[in-house]
Amino acid sequence: MLMVVTFDGVRGSIPCAERRFMRYGGNTSCIHVQAGDTEILLDAGTGLRQAGVRLRARGVSTFHLLLSHTHWDHVCGLPFFGPSYDPACDVTVMAGRHEGSTTLRETLGVHLAPPVFPVDLASMPGIKRVRDIEPSGVFALASDVRVITRPLRHPGGATGYRIEHGGASVCYVTDTEQELGVRDPRILELIAGSDLLIYDATYTDAEMPARTGWGHSSWEEGVRLCQASGTRALAVHHHDPDRDDRSLDRIARDARKAWKGAFVAREGQSLTL
Ligand SMILES: [Zn+2]
Ligand SMILES: [Zn+2]
Repeated sequence: MLMVVTFDGVRGSIPCAERRFMRYGGNTSCIHVQAGDTEILLDAGTGLRQAGVRLRARGVSTFHLLLSHTHWDHVCGLPFFGPSYDPACDVTVMAGRHEGSTTLRETLGVHLAPPVFPVDLASMPGIKRVRDIEPSGVFALASDVRVITRPLRHPGGATGYRIEHGGASVCYVTDTEQELGVRDPRILELIAGSDLLIYDATYTDAEMPARTGWGHSSWEEGVRLCQASGTRALAVHHHDPDRDDRSLDRIARDARKAWKGAFVAREGQSLTL
């Protein structure tokens, strides 16, 4: 069976609800990957809510939720994910544990506790497992689904994923910053020869010098990484909240001109690998 990738949230940092953001979408990071019978959700941004509604309507009850990291924009959808509250559901939440960081359960406990939020993890019976995983490793989610992880350059750390199924592969690499002019060898190794790279393209190359140390990258760097690694397509992702539809149209044109494999990810968009 093929792999189907659906974008439920493509925005970085904070959701955008104004009309001028609606064509590309305002929800923060969440991507659904259907790999055969295995349902994977990449990140728990605000897009996770609608992913939960859609997948429950299809009768899905088992979910593997892989978090790039636990910054707000990547976890704030978790308490609005319907299956979290359904004891008949089986949700496993996973994130890479980086040096010096607390466990995932401890970190989510900070987000999901009064006075920050009224409902805690213990009140979410659908969440059966909360797991720390190796930020540089490989594991199987099912007999026909393999996941490879690599650490990313981001404040507090983040984890990049490569998901392989049935000869196809999709890579999710957000949030990450490159050293100027240096291709990150760990990312190049992770994405080598893959079908699709979903990449942190918060900024453009021209904006990067003023954003050094902020932990994000550019669409141009995404193109360079794909070209250097033999990756077949690039989804420009994690759009800056100041980037409205018209400015994303411009980026879509520029990126396409730079490399025919590049496109700007849009909420609701779905592709089959
Ligand atoms: Zn982010
Ligand atoms: Zn972040």
